[in-house]
This record gives sequence, C-alpha cells and structure tokens, in this order.
Amino acid sequence: MAPTSAELFKRNEAYSPTHTPMPTIDEIIAMGGGAPKTCIITCVDPRVHPEALLGLQFGETFIFRTVAGHPQSALQDIAALDIEGHNCLEDIMIIYHTGQHLLKPLPCVLNNWFDSARTDCGSTRFDVPRIRSGWAERDPSSKLQVDEMTFGAVQARYGYDKQEDALRDDVKWLKEQPLVRKAQGINVKGYLYDLKSGKLQEVV
Ligand SMILES: [Zn+2]
Repeated sequence: MAPTSAELFKRNEAYSPTHTPMPTIDEIIAMGGGAPKTCIITCVDPRVHPEALLGLQFGETFIFRTVAGHPQSALQDIAALDIEGHNCLEDIMIIYHTGQHLLKPLPCVLNNWFDSARTDCGSTRFDVPRIRSGWAERDPSSKLQVDEMTFGAVQARYGYDKQEDALRDDVKWLKEQPLVRKAQGINVKGYLYDLKSGKLQEVV
C-alpha cells in the first residue's frame, strides 16, 4: 500500500537519528566545491530512482521530476540555477523510462499505444479527452484552462509513432531554448531507462 503523508512523517522519526549532516552552501564553497554540473530531468514515476540507476552520491546533480520527464516546466528553474550557480551547468540528461511487459498489457494500453509491448510510462496511458471531461464534471470553470493543456500525454494519436519520438522532441525543444542552447555551453541528451533490466540507453 502506498503510504500516507502521516506515515511518511512518522518514518522520519526513525531516519533522523541516522542522518549524516549535509554541508551548507558556504561550507561546500569553503571546501573548494561548487554547484552540480549535471541536471537530470526524469519521470515522476516512483519506480524510477535516479539516485540508484546513476549511482549518485548526495549532492552530485540537480534532479527534476515531471510527467514522462518533459523539460518544459523545469526551464525557469534551470535558467535560475545556471546563473546563480555561476554557469555551473554542462550537461542535461532527459531520462524517459520503459519496460518490457511480462504479462499481457491491459486493454487501456492497447487502445492508446501501438507499441504497448515495450513501453510502461504512465504518460502513454494518459487520455487527454478523459482528463478534460473529468475536470469539466468536477469544475466547469476549469474548461478554458484544461482545454489548452495536453498533460504530457505520449501517444501515437498525438503525433508520436514511438516513445523515442517524444523524447527526441523534448531534447530538440530544450536545445532550442535561448536559456539553455549550446551557445551557453550546455549539452542536452535523451535516454531511455528500462525498468526491468535497469539499463540506460542513449537515444539522442
Ligand atoms: Zn513515467
């Protein structure tokens, strides 16, 4: 069962006595350290653990979590971090995830995604009309706002023949942003992480 916030708060009682104190920003600077060079953008999916799959130590990278790993909502923060971190950023990794189905995919997947045998990100199951009508029933005043949103859906019906196509689009979009582009010395790459094998594949 997924824990409630109260249960998670309770877990902190057990964690805090074992906690290793983290250095402050001033302490890091005094030790000759700096801001992270790499920024990770990956899916909100709780099965994706960037710290584990990339072997991260505390304090090594910035990490953003968005639906699918779409970078658009992170742009403002990336722009701020790069300036306040004194041009710290060198690499941005957009990490989508997938997974080979061991069981027959559910009908909702088959309806929405032609390549359902090898993708397992929730964004490939998002049904935009269903989300919009759900909000119309819940709060009719939200119609104008939700009608302009695509909610990060990654599906053939929205122009993507493969999950990789959406990833390539996101990398291209981020590379074209004046606040991120290569002229600023920042490289952007896209990867697929396989939930079953744990392997990371460079796509673009
Ligand atoms: Zn996902």
